[in-house]
Amino acid sequence: MIRHRPLLVCLLLITIIAAGCIVDLAPLAQPPTIKPTSETLQIHFIDVGQGDSILVISPEGKIALIDGGEAGSGALQYLQNMGVKRIDLMVATHPHDDHIGGLPEILESIPVTKVVMNGEEHTSSTFERLLDDIAGSKAEYAEVRRGDTLTLGSLNFEVLNPGLRLGDDINNNSIVLRLAYGKVSFLLMGDAEKTAEREILDANLAVAATVLKVGHHASTTSSSAGFLDRVRPAVAVYFAGVDNSFGHPDKETLNALKAVNAKTYGTDVLGTIVITSDGQGYQVNTTGPQTVAALALDIVSLTSRVAPGSQATLNAKTLPGARCMITVHTKSGVSEARGLEPHKADSSGNISWTWKVGAGTAEGTWKIEVTAEQNGQSLTKETSYTVKK
Ligand SMILES: [Zn+2]
Repeated sequence: MIRHRPLLVCLLLITIIAAGCIVDLAPLAQPPTIKPTSETLQIHFIDVGQGDSILVISPEGKIALIDGGEAGSGALQYLQNMGVKRIDLMVATHPHDDHIGGLPEILESIPVTKVVMNGEEHTSSTFERLLDDIAGSKAEYAEVRRGDTLTLGSLNFEVLNPGLRLGDDINNNSIVLRLAYGKVSFLLMGDAEKTAEREILDANLAVAATVLKVGHHASTTSSSAGFLDRVRPAVAVYFAGVDNSFGHPDKETLNALKAVNAKTYGTDVLGTIVITSDGQGYQVNTTGPQTVAALALDIVSLTSRVAPGSQATLNAKTLPGARCMITVHTKSGVSEARGLEPHKADSSGNISWTWKVGAGTAEGTWKIEVTAEQNGQSLTKETSYTVKK
């Protein structure tokens, strides 16, 4: 029995040291400001609702931003509150709106030194605006592949994905980054799914990480047991909006993370999650869930007396990035005219539809409904227009 005692003492000490690594502090009233020291790395998983946005502050005070959430979802405001005056490295992991939507407004407000993407094209208006903003800024532009390295001050991000050739799945083409800082490492998965996980493992790359930014909002399409077994994260962070309509995070994924003993933090439950590290251990702070801005919707103007065969326009104002729908009634039912498709409000919250009132539309006053949706909230306003020759 006595022979085992030193081992027990040893284990006890290891437990105490390990326990000291994770410190959950009380929610912060305000996010910590940039206080670069020679040895502290900060990674902020910014609560942008249903989307990703990661702020990295190197020990020298260099700034990287990986994704920017949806338009108007708070990343720009967070950076401004933090006093960020320049972004040294901006990474768009893949061209989906919940990752790149907030980048144009940031590029239009804060100088950016370098923008990195995977080179995948997208037809969305957000993507086109992002390309315009990059071209219009003084930022250097680069595309990366597996095996490349991105530097930020003394930090090196290894690019684990995409492979040399892009596949046909946008999520699986996500830029995946691994950052090692002393004994503490971070694996940032973007929305990479199981296919990308398998390719990364097949490429024999180091994936072990202290902190895993879980792929694709902790849906079941990502985080295969085989991958998690190789990453062995102590901490898992996922991004999801409160009461999001996708069912993120998935229970099965949360159980898979539990099975590898990862302590899991989600932005839907905890708000912004800040991990600081001196390279020896790490500390996790949370701010509490974001108070979701109450949805607003006002119909600003409408062509209310319109002749059959003429164009009508409705302008409305809501929250930036809110998804908006319009239903235009006529005597014979709901109009299916072109131009009445749902779309998103711009970064100032403006939304507009222009359509042609059919030449055969009956005279009279008919109803129009406009609905805005964001962060699980929905708001409908009604108005009417008059058709008269
Ligand atoms: Zn996403």
